Amino acid sequence: MKKLPIDDSLPELLRPRPARRPEPVSRPTRAQAEAAVRTLLAWAGDDPDREGLRLTPQRVADAYREYFSGYGEDAIALLADPVVDDVSDYDDIILLRDIPVLSHCEHHIAPFIGRAWVAYLPGGRVTGLSRLARVVDIYARRLQTQEALTAEIADALDKGLEPRGVAGLIEAEHQCIAARGIRQRGMTAVTMRFTGAFETDQALQARFLRVAGRTAAA
Ligand SMILES: [Zn+2]
Repeated sequence: MKKLPIDDSLPELLRPRPARRPEPVSRPTRAQAEAAVRTLLAWAGDDPDREGLRLTPQRVADAYREYFSGYGEDAIALLADPVVDDVSDYDDIILLRDIPVLSHCEHHIAPFIGRAWVAYLPGGRVTGLSRLARVVDIYARRLQTQEALTAEIADALDKGLEPRGVAGLIEAEHQCIAARGIRQRGMTAVTMRFTGAFETDQALQARFLRVAGRTAAA
């Protein structure tokens, strides 16, 4: 991680803070990534050279490419890209429900799996419904917390579509909770983010939660 230079002439609060997600300065080579997996296999207590594990570093490197393909993809640009459909006479909630979420927690690199509900009240632009699902996927395919994922999706919709408001809700089960320490299965975490009219208009927010079938979470 690249450190920002610290300018001592500025008071503490005014010094530039590193962004939450700095772009990696440089990526290790594929060979280095595979060697790191071998190290972890040995750290787990196994023999990385035994037959069953011989191709595991390769497979894990491939899997990482897939799990984390959201880095470098620009969700805001995707949303801002105009679509041809004319929906200018529609001005009510546009909601996509039950979007599959597969992400990885940034604390344990363990999967968290669930569903997302994303809605916006059109103002500036409208977009294809499939793009809403793409935006969820772009942010899910990064190391995440569920809270940050929910916020990033909502903020991307805000910036990319300039709507009157955005609502986002994610319900997911975290394997790091299910598999470690407290061996509890079936617990899910619910996170929400509301902006604009969804934040200020309680009736609108209640409508979103009702349509999302989440009145109990409200
Ligand atoms: Zn975790």
